[in-house]
Amino acid sequence: MNKQEKHPKDTLEEELLHTRKNVWDTLKDLEEVNRFNKEYISFLNGSKTEREVIKQVIQLVESKGFKNIFSSEGVQDRLYYPLHGKSIAVFRRGEKPLTEALNILVAHVDSPRLDLKQYPVYEDQDLVLFKTHYYGGIRKYHWVSIPLAFHGIFAMKDGSIKEVIIGENESDPVFTIADLLPHLSAQVQNTKKATEFIPGEKLNILVGSLPVSHDVKQDQRFKLNILKVFKETYGISEEDFLSADIELVPAGNAREVGLDRSMVGAYGHDDRVCAYTALRAILDVKNPKTSALVFLMDKEEIGSEGASGSNTWFPEMVVGELLALEGNDSYRAIRRTLSGARCLSADVNAAVHPDWKEVHDLKNAAFLNGGLVLTKFTGARGKAGSSEANAEFVAQLRKIFDEHNITWQMGELGKVDEGGGGTIAKFMAYYGMQVIDAGVPVLGMHSTFEVVSKGDVYETYRAFQAMLTSE
Ligand code: MN
Ligand code: MN
Repeated sequence: MNKQEKHPKDTLEEELLHTRKNVWDTLKDLEEVNRFNKEYISFLNGSKTEREVIKQVIQLVESKGFKNIFSSEGVQDRLYYPLHGKSIAVFRRGEKPLTEALNILVAHVDSPRLDLKQYPVYEDQDLVLFKTHYYGGIRKYHWVSIPLAFHGIFAMKDGSIKEVIIGENESDPVFTIADLLPHLSAQVQNTKKATEFIPGEKLNILVGSLPVSHDVKQDQRFKLNILKVFKETYGISEEDFLSADIELVPAGNAREVGLDRSMVGAYGHDDRVCAYTALRAILDVKNPKTSALVFLMDKEEIGSEGASGSNTWFPEMVVGELLALEGNDSYRAIRRTLSGARCLSADVNAAVHPDWKEVHDLKNAAFLNGGLVLTKFTGARGKAGSSEANAEFVAQLRKIFDEHNITWQMGELGKVDEGGGGTIAKFMAYYGMQVIDAGVPVLGMHSTFEVVSKGDVYETYRAFQAMLTSE
């Protein structure tokens, strides 16, 4: 074969070898990258819990003309379906019938955090504290000695909801978990493993230290003072904590990271970075030929169980309602639509940490600034628990991304025997649809200050848009 004539490429290396790209070599419009990330940062700052994400998403989609599916009749182009205030499906109708083709992005909006217990308030050594039970995979030592904010809702017996956020405004007080001083930690902390030196039952939040009166004989006078503040400010009594969803999260805003401002540091990139890029993709895509659905889901960090999680009938409920508006909601049509759909499980993956390279197979890991990461399978020890994607589906995506000049990479979470994890992918694969994990590489994932690259965020948004425009 005459290589010179048949192949326009200059060298054998170019022809045969695959080299990964760096987003900063391929992104042309830095102003646009910065503008997009600024909007992402403002979204993050307004959404520190899954409820706050969904509330903000509803405001955003309504401003773009989307209607609640339950107040709509007939065939509509832009709809949303809220679920228990903690999850949502956002829909754009394409030209083709739903039963023929449907593109889906699914991301999660819950993040690891400290939840208040049901009887949280107590007094000890004349101090008032909150008991917590952590949610999701946290490293407990991250949560001590940092300012924490109080976010959540109290559901009252009369059906009303009281939303309370304390600790995000400059004038607000914050909360914290005091750590032990190094002078006294030799026995009780320093000899223990990282998973044990801060026990879950010691993740107690400092809430106050003023007595309600100077009568030293008064029982629980410090706790009473805090309850009095709750009553006067929010109309809340101790019993109301029994029907509340209260989360303690790192206080403060997302920030640009690095002297060159190339990165964003924040609590909750996992997985709001994919939720935001997926949402923006479905809002911004122009006249899609194939219909598009974006699911933003709760409960992923604790296994997707629960009424607002992905391990429910939610996809069937949504597709059933959409087909009903077209007058064809037979179970067969629902099954066809879901099994024929293509899905990106939009979730983050670990970026190689330069100081901890030993946990990664560097040949198969994801890198910060490597662009969108596709993860063919998750799971642990022999791919257990994973819904590995088909090669044919990966090939379709390669074509789509190459046509749109997307910088992307393949990444495995860590070395084969190192550990592992799961995502929503397998709950979508349950319907027989093609699905693969795709998202932003993150440094310090599941920490209180996760770091992403602005370039990767923008490239993920472009990749999601490319997927939603594909036929
Ligand atoms: Mn995630
Ligand atoms: Mn996670």
